[in-house]
Amino acid sequence: MGRLDGRVAVVTGAARGIGAATAKRLAADGAKVAVFDLKEEFTRDTVEAIRAAGGEAVGYGCDVSNADQVEQAISSVAERFGRLDILVNNAGIIRDNLLFKMTEDDWDMVMNVHLKGAFLCSRAAQRYMVQQKYGKIVNLSSTSALGNRGQANYSAAKAGLQGFTKTLAIELGPFNINVNAVAPGFIVTEMTRQTAERIGVDFEAFQKAAAERIPLRRVGRPEDIANVIAFLVSDDASYVSGQVIYVHGGRAAE
Ligand code: NAP
Repeated sequence: MGRLDGRVAVVTGAARGIGAATAKRLAADGAKVAVFDLKEEFTRDTVEAIRAAGGEAVGYGCDVSNADQVEQAISSVAERFGRLDILVNNAGIIRDNLLFKMTEDDWDMVMNVHLKGAFLCSRAAQRYMVQQKYGKIVNLSSTSALGNRGQANYSAAKAGLQGFTKTLAIELGPFNINVNAVAPGFIVTEMTRQTAERIGVDFEAFQKAAAERIPLRRVGRPEDIANVIAFLVSDDASYVSGQVIYVHGGRAAE
């Protein structure tokens, strides 16, 4: 018997990276998983991997920064499965640049996907969770919330998500809804590959240099984050709310 048997989960931005690993892990723990990404066809690999492993998954095209798409996708999940227990606000993008070169578009896009996206999805999902008097929300923050060169937009969004998490924990706690954030450090995904590309460093060398500064002497894998999210959305964490869990291999030496 799985720890999430009978639960229904939505994971946003789950076509690849941390979102895909999380969707697979929650399905392995017994949840029925709605795999969200910009287009339904992008979710195919994740959905097929879950089904091949004996789990249940359905893909949805949903741009989390679009209120109509979010309302529609979340209500079809609740209709299809009859409930909605878990929301993982994972969808994310980067538009890095030093402040003097950062465009208004770079700023707006990052805010819209991370912050507004988490707001829209949480607002839509809480309706079902409040009714059920049961729910788990996990937001993806980042160590960048503490400041990171070239990421004024992203750092602000990820710090904003921490305040958002703590506020939702206060507002939704009386309805038996736990709200927490996970703040990853360096995780090997397309996102960190893009960062290496932008600064013109070979991705392998980039990982090696990062690992040398991390006390556990390795960079993270998507599964390292999925494991912590799986705990936070389970009833083993039923008295944990309003927390930001850093998952970064120990604080990197500057
Ligand atoms: P990733 O590999 O780039 O995956 C992000 C996913 O989100 C992609 O499938 C992307 O779709 C999707 N997405 C982008 N915009 C979206 C939108 N508007 N609506 C729905 N889906 C959207 O990134 P990742 O590294 O797995 O990161 C996942 C989360 O962890 C993000 O919130 C990120 O900020 C956070 N995080 C990552 C790291 C790290 O080191 N990797 C560290 C700290 C925090 P497309 O492929 O179509 O663009």
